[in-house]
Amino acid sequence: MYCSVILRGAVRQTDKLFTYRVPDELSGTVVAGSLVNVPFGKGDSQRCAVVIDIKDTFDGDESLVKDIGSVISSSPVLKADQLALIDKISDRFNCTKGDVVELMVPSCVVNHKNPVEVFVELVSKENTEFILKSETLRSIAHIHILEYLLERGKCTRKEIMSSLSCSSAQVKALEDKGLIRLVKEVAGEEETYLSLDDAPEGKFTEEYDLSTEQETAVNEILTGIDERNANTFLLFGITGSGKTEVYLNCAKKVIAEGGSVIYMVPEISLTPQTINWIKGRLGDSVAVLHSRLTDKQRYEQWNNIRTGKAKVIVGPRSGVFAPAVDLRLIILDEEHDSSYKSESHPRYSAKDIARMRSLITGCSVVLGSATPSVESFYAANLGAYKLLELKQRARQEAKLPNIVPVDMKEQIKLGSGSMLSVPLRQAMSVAFSENKQVILLLNRRGFSRTLVCESCGEPVTCKNCSVAMTLHNNRRNGTQSLICHYCGYTVPSYEAVCSVCNGTRFTKAGFGTQQLEEFLHTVFPHEKVLRMDQDSTMTPGAHKEIIEKFANKEASILIGTQMIAKGLDFPDVTVVGVLGADLMLASTSFKASERAFQLITQAAGRAGRGDHPGTVFIQSMRPEQPLFQFACTQNYRAFYEQEIEYRQKLSLPPFKAIGEVVLSLPDENLLIQRANMLSKYLNDFIGFQDKKYQFEVFGPMPCVIYELRGRYRMSFVIKAANKSAINGVFKRLIEDFDHVKYPMSFDNDPQDG
Ligand code: ADP
Ligand code: ZN
Repeated sequence: MYCSVILRGAVRQTDKLFTYRVPDELSGTVVAGSLVNVPFGKGDSQRCAVVIDIKDTFDGDESLVKDIGSVISSSPVLKADQLALIDKISDRFNCTKGDVVELMVPSCVVNHKNPVEVFVELVSKENTEFILKSETLRSIAHIHILEYLLERGKCTRKEIMSSLSCSSAQVKALEDKGLIRLVKEVAGEEETYLSLDDAPEGKFTEEYDLSTEQETAVNEILTGIDERNANTFLLFGITGSGKTEVYLNCAKKVIAEGGSVIYMVPEISLTPQTINWIKGRLGDSVAVLHSRLTDKQRYEQWNNIRTGKAKVIVGPRSGVFAPAVDLRLIILDEEHDSSYKSESHPRYSAKDIARMRSLITGCSVVLGSATPSVESFYAANLGAYKLLELKQRARQEAKLPNIVPVDMKEQIKLGSGSMLSVPLRQAMSVAFSENKQVILLLNRRGFSRTLVCESCGEPVTCKNCSVAMTLHNNRRNGTQSLICHYCGYTVPSYEAVCSVCNGTRFTKAGFGTQQLEEFLHTVFPHEKVLRMDQDSTMTPGAHKEIIEKFANKEASILIGTQMIAKGLDFPDVTVVGVLGADLMLASTSFKASERAFQLITQAAGRAGRGDHPGTVFIQSMRPEQPLFQFACTQNYRAFYEQEIEYRQKLSLPPFKAIGEVVLSLPDENLLIQRANMLSKYLNDFIGFQDKKYQFEVFGPMPCVIYELRGRYRMSFVIKAANKSAINGVFKRLIEDFDHVKYPMSFDNDPQDG
């Protein structure tokens, strides 16, 4: 018998199917999906591999075929639908099949050793019966052990010792008499128990009568699941409309019928809170995959999924690879969240993979959000996704918060400074006097390298692309320039003119969370402040601790970056301040407006979740901008209409696909030389392509982060009619360039400029 395998984590040169012989003694233990060790290369070093298929014959040179080394897991580590996904993912995300296997088979599985156990068996049944009848044994313990073995056959020493309360010395004595044999064997894949968090509290188990909207959504989704027709739903429900309840009801039905569900949540929402909710409602069949697990716990969870003991898999984006048995539903909560896209190799999108997996298995996909990504809403408008809407808050008494724009230009003139406006300060005082809490949101992502106009607060934007331009220091001559990361348009910083007010003085605006914290201590010296940002959450568990402290009301103010806007539920928060809202728009990504709208809406969703209506203050230098108006009225559709028009006008996704190639080298001169070579190649290449692909190439230009870990980085942006055209270019680059001389990374869905 032979099998073909893929090496886990293979590089491009070794990313093929290799054939191995299955020696007779292993023949029963190797099936498609098994995990094995194989001798590889000249030195026959052992490599971990997944068996793709089994065959009786081999039509190549028989003498070159090696034997499989050993079997790591005979029961498949990959299900048929996962095996079918490997090629598709490798193709779509420009990685090796071995990379995909690595994503699907986590290292805890490779490293897992089933514990070796000592088994006890009788040397001879007849002889034992004879000895027992002849009553020659004097030890009652010896008699019991032999009787036990006669009755049950081979069993572990541990079992005998605990069932009969005897010692290992007594077992050993029987071995010395030659009556029994001790053998060491690998124990079978025992069912493990979910040994995670404590039992959920009662408050998480409450069930509700569904609202009419919720019920319609649940019914539509359940019908879709029954069709097994790879249906995708976009569950568009305002914050607090009870989307979670929809997911839980659907999941419950699926597991009652024996199917399983993958339930993904953004990385940061994977709090004990969320987990308790889901476990409280769906019981012990929930497996949780998150970064705080030890290898042993992770293996346990994974094995429960593989054996079908766990039927609901809760996790971040990597959950999409779980070996679910009879998968019928994949949920992506907060589908717009950027954590569903991997920002390191392989740069996959869990949303795309969910869709790919559904096309193979027929399972349904539910994408849920209060602020869907523009691409998803576009797909729903085209009819590719079924749109389900929840327009009402689920709890009648919970009111939509009041959203108040604050003009910071005026406030600064009035002398209140640039951090806290008078109305926000007053609202905070009232909240504290009523023993309520306040969240202050300060987004710093992506703006720190842009310049804003001193008089109107507007960032310098690219005349072609309407995104903020990035400030770069020209190391060679000490000057500074502003560069657009989509088209490469460059202006020396001294020539920049504000497109809104023609101002010519620019500054790196904004303040940080630490400055804000210090300022709060002077304004509200009696209030305790918690800060959640990258610095304060470096250590594992810090994030959870901050959330718990705030939930326990150990502090009345929580300040932080976008981390705190997501998925958290603090019933006593009545005031939310969004500070420096303009800076959200000053990001260098074409998704800046979308992100800002999402963030404000989510932040607003944090206020008034309990029985008290909340107020959200949006502090901006230009509160009259349409985006803030739409956010204040929570008008997603109006926002969408404006955004989709901009995307169409500038040929951005979903109208055209964008790809990015990053070339990075430690030697700056070499980098510039090779980037120019690459530029020539790319321009020649697209010159020969059919017009229908609509190729455009921009660059080379320095990356937003030009120096990273001792390397300099230049990027190219490629636009084309669709992703497969972009991938076509990537494949040519991979084939035609020596990857040692030209270390490149590829992304066909860059999220942040
Ligand atoms: P979303 O995820 O859409 O923002 P949630 O799922 O967090 O909203 O629900 C908001 C609140 O409404 C939660 O406290 C939830 O327990 C409650 N809720 C959900 N559905 C119902 C219902 N049918 N009746 C009463 N309360 C509900
Ligand atoms: Zn541009």
